[in-house]
Amino acid sequence: MQIQMDRKEKILKVLALLKKEFKGLKTEPGKSDPLDVLIATMLSQNTTDKTSYKAFVNLKERFKDWYEVMEAPYTKVRDAIKVCGLANPKARNIQRMLKELKKEHGKLSLNHIKKMGNDEIYEELTKYNGVGVKTVSCVLVFSLARDVFPVDTHVHRVSNRLSLAHSKTPEKTFEQLKDIVPEGNKLALHTLLIRFGRKICRAKNPLCNKCPLYDLCEFEEKEYYAGINKEIGVEPKENNFIILEHV
Ligand code: SF4
Repeated sequence: MQIQMDRKEKILKVLALLKKEFKGLKTEPGKSDPLDVLIATMLSQNTTDKTSYKAFVNLKERFKDWYEVMEAPYTKVRDAIKVCGLANPKARNIQRMLKELKKEHGKLSLNHIKKMGNDEIYEELTKYNGVGVKTVSCVLVFSLARDVFPVDTHVHRVSNRLSLAHSKTPEKTFEQLKDIVPEGNKLALHTLLIRFGRKICRAKNPLCNKCPLYDLCEFEEKEYYAGINKEIGVEPKENNFIILEHV
């Protein structure tokens, strides 16, 4: 059944159904240090939460503070984070960002962004290599408790399958949804869509047979996947690990 409804109304319906499905999932904004969140999110690009969290912990354990990371030989930083992949560019970008931050503000802190508006913060942080819109959105949500909507690969895929967005990249999905997700619901929707995308609406072989959003979904292969997974009785794997809950 194709359900036509206003996108905002559909988002609220998706939220209600996912809250019911994932009862108890933490969807509160964080108060973590913005520089910690920025670095954790830079590490999390193109890898799993488990490995990027390990890389973040390695940095915290092997170096006294971000000053030591900035001044360390590049190979030491690279080795500390190699568990999360793309260690060469990530180490280079993190050290370069720290050096530029120190040069511009005299210290390694992002406290100056706390008084800025969201647009100014996007402009301020995306000037660093390796820092894109999604990374800045995570800083806004997980350290400044701003009401923004980070779009990663899971949020992008699920939003498009549900026809909440129609785009080929997470950046465009972000642009299409950032003013449509009702205020006060952005973090909750982000967190729930990630959990849903990992557990049920997976990139490969989505578990459409177990999907609480089946009637809202416009993915053209949903009937096929509902059929094959029903036959083989696939069970979703639990995955409780979200890096930014731990920073
Ligand atoms: S029906 Fe399938 S493709 Fe559609 S949202 Fe659910 S799991 Fe994803």
